[in-house]
Amino acid sequence: MSEPRLYFDSAASTPVRPEVWEAMQPYFREKFGNPGSLHSFGQEAIKAVDESREKIAKSLGADFRQIIFTSSATEANNLAFRGTIRKFWWNFFKKVEKTGSYLPHLISTAIEHESVLETLKDVQDRGAAKVTILPVNENGLIDPSAIKNALTPQTILVSVMYVNNEVGTIEDIKKISSIVREFRGNSAYPLLHTDAVQAPQFLSCNPDILGVDLMTLSSHKIYGPKGAALLYVRNTNLLSPLITGGGQEFGIRSGTENVPAIVGFAEAAELIMSEREALKDKISNLASRFVDGLRDSGVKFEINGFDVGNKSRISAILNLRFPGINAETFLTELDLKGFAASSGSACKARALTPSHVLQAMGLPGEKIKESVRISLHKFLTEEDIDRGVKIISETLSHSSRTKSINYETPADQI
Ligand code: PLP
Repeated sequence: MSEPRLYFDSAASTPVRPEVWEAMQPYFREKFGNPGSLHSFGQEAIKAVDESREKIAKSLGADFRQIIFTSSATEANNLAFRGTIRKFWWNFFKKVEKTGSYLPHLISTAIEHESVLETLKDVQDRGAAKVTILPVNENGLIDPSAIKNALTPQTILVSVMYVNNEVGTIEDIKKISSIVREFRGNSAYPLLHTDAVQAPQFLSCNPDILGVDLMTLSSHKIYGPKGAALLYVRNTNLLSPLITGGGQEFGIRSGTENVPAIVGFAEAAELIMSEREALKDKISNLASRFVDGLRDSGVKFEINGFDVGNKSRISAILNLRFPGINAETFLTELDLKGFAASSGSACKARALTPSHVLQAMGLPGEKIKESVRISLHKFLTEEDIDRGVKIISETLSHSSRTKSINYETPADQI
């Protein structure tokens, strides 16, 4: 019998854990009611949504009314940006009429997820806001003083991700928060948003401790189901809805709630936050074993970004460059041998475009083409790690196709 496939792409999605699956089950069949209905079926469903909201709020250290469920982190990021801009226009409409044109300003970074960068590009292209995208250093770190210099009286929102999804770099959100808060003084703006999707397994996401006004989290990155995510909103008076209708989610996100997914998300969030310390150690040991195993097997590689063990990175996401390979061919060969990894974020990976994160870190095109993302999850064992190392090392030594790379190819043509 062939060995089970190995999954090394947890930054794209994690497997649903058994406890979560169990918790969700009743809400597909016997407790299927619409949370908006007044009868007992509806009561059962709204109770589950409310309990889930309470569970997540408590795990995060937030208030019940500050948790807005969405269908995905992509939607939550859209809500954060478009909802803030929309509310700003609404609040300031009369003032704008008096004072002439006033374009709100947003600040973000070059290594954000596509759901941030594409949304910001869209609002700028539509003339709804002016956007400043700040660079990062060779490890993917943003310099907080660059944010200080970019702030203007028109800045209404700063958005910096907590943990990067391609290289695992942790940004200094607390420091950025102190800069934003000092700048805004007693006024409402600028707000600070963080996309913390890759963080909760390893870092506290308490919005008060981080000092954020808006925060995005996603269920399927923490062993929950797809179809549920959230936006933490410190002050809902500063956010306009993008989806209007029945007034669910305190009027901020209408549409019948995805009850089973929300129940699963809450269960996953509570569990992951309670086991964070043990998990951190486990994944960090697995990551070291993986990297040491590759070195011991004589595999030539470099780590893009901070070295394993550095405090400014999470250990679960390894972005490795294997000189001489073509990542796409290499990943296909690995997949055929039962080892699933990726070349970047899931959306980008399908489009086969070079990673904007590695580009922003200054990697030339030929090195980006040699880079793969290997991300670890809690269900991997030491045996899985050793088998993964063996598959990589054998694939590299046997492959002739992976070595056919044209170093002359410019980055923009990859
Ligand atoms: N933000 C980050 C940092 C991510 O890694 C991802 C998914 O890869 C997203 C946002 C989008 O998440 P979702 O799949 O829930 O839309």
